[in-house]
Amino acid sequence: MLDPDRAKQIVLEHIAPKPPQQVGLEESLGLVLQEDIRATCSVPAFDNSAMDGYAVLASDLAQASPQSPVVLEKVDYIPAGNREEREIQSGQCYQIATGAELPPGADAVVMKERVEVEGNQIRFMHSPQVKEHLRFKGEDIEEHQTVVRRGELIGPAQIALFAAFGHARVLVQKPLEVVIITTGSELVDVNSPLEPGKIHDSNSYMFAALFREERCLCHRVGIVQDDPELLYEVLKSHINADMVLISGGVSVGDRDFVKDVLRKVGVEEIFWKVRVKPGKPFFFGKKEDSLIFGMPGNPASGYVIFEEFVRPAIRKAMGYATLEKSLVTATLEKRITERTERRQYLRAQLRKDGDHFRVKPLPVQGSHSLSSLAWSNSLIIVPENSEELPEGSQVTVRPLIDTLGMQS
Ligand code: AMP
Ligand code: MG
Repeated sequence: MLDPDRAKQIVLEHIAPKPPQQVGLEESLGLVLQEDIRATCSVPAFDNSAMDGYAVLASDLAQASPQSPVVLEKVDYIPAGNREEREIQSGQCYQIATGAELPPGADAVVMKERVEVEGNQIRFMHSPQVKEHLRFKGEDIEEHQTVVRRGELIGPAQIALFAAFGHARVLVQKPLEVVIITTGSELVDVNSPLEPGKIHDSNSYMFAALFREERCLCHRVGIVQDDPELLYEVLKSHINADMVLISGGVSVGDRDFVKDVLRKVGVEEIFWKVRVKPGKPFFFGKKEDSLIFGMPGNPASGYVIFEEFVRPAIRKAMGYATLEKSLVTATLEKRITERTERRQYLRAQLRKDGDHFRVKPLPVQGSHSLSSLAWSNSLIIVPENSEELPEGSQVTVRPLIDTLGMQS
């Protein structure tokens, strides 16, 4: 049985991302950037007004108050997009729009709500600080600064930055094409009624959802009976996708044919069986550029294997800088008695308590248990050959959710 860290390393060594491609901004959402994007100018590009109001010399208004207003002469109006060349003189003001460039020399803006207007005579009741309501050149972003890094996921704000700096096309990794095949003569699709002895195929939908979370293009082939000939036909015609995930049939049962059939269709076994619980019979192989993941059929096993081995593989292939959801340390709220020579992944409820995390393993941990999967938000990682862990122990946890937004 292979050590899990070594298994992950081997999987990742086999991932060779495809050459990146240029896409237009509208196609880039949800993809991973493959170049550093730099600012081609400062933002703001020039000193400008943060308010609709009046650009002034603050020193002219040092004494202004509601009791003793100061009157300045309005020279002109500067709408957004216009540039005023004349330097402001003492006694003058310019009406100015939000975002418009300041006239030379002006050092403050007074909001229009704080003045009274009589033709060109503007009565100020407020004495502004120097720099009040101004935005300065380069205050947000400096020219040449890297604004989005290679390996970052592209979201709406990143797209706004590309556009702001005139990048109409960006270099990205295209989504992976993956095929999901579920095996098992006991399985029935969700759209068909159950007969005695049968269960609904939940894995193919679960894996498709997990792949979609990573923005892969999934083709769900559906259920294949535990029949070597049928399996051969299906595997043969789908083995050339970027990744092929086969659920079930990789264990040691008399009807677990997947490994044999994979060999017949030319898949090279890279490893089989990893020292983890759940998920021991995990298979990894390759055929030319296609990677093949043979997942144990029990849903919790498949989920754990996906999280620990397949997700990092997808992320590497898609060019992400971050391959995994980061681990946290948490205080155990309920003791863990089960000990094994394998590394355990216990489905658990993680919560925030101030700056700390607390975690409680769910009572049912069977590898078939869908409820423990659905009610958990994290996996407690119990090291191989661990002693019993009493309440209060510090444990390593893989959150399955975004912990930033977690309520404490
Ligand atoms: P296997 O790995 O093929 O031996 O499957 C182990 C067990 O996992 C089976 O007995 C089923 O109870 C369950 N199982 C297998 N495939 C699926 C599936 N696609 N959806 C839900 N449960 C499954
Ligand atoms: Mg099976």
